Amino acid sequence: MKIKTIKSQSRRDFTAIYECEHCGATVEGYGYDDANFHQNVIANMACNQCGKKASDDYRPLVTKYADHEVL
Ligand SMILES: [Zn+2]
Repeated sequence: MKIKTIKSQSRRDFTAIYECEHCGATVEGYGYDDANFHQNVIANMACNQCGKKASDDYRPLVTKYADHEVL
């Protein structure tokens, strides 16, 4: 899955629309805006329609805030 749109964000917690790269299915979900979440968690989310994860060329978004920033 990848993030299609971030709907709202409060500090590092956000709500986003995730989109499957393979079948185009979208799902709304929560997220946490740090590097691990973008690089590992989202890339390993399986689509609930086709069951696939992100492709090998998945490129994570950069975080809104750096990991060391205190919010
Ligand atoms: Zn899919």
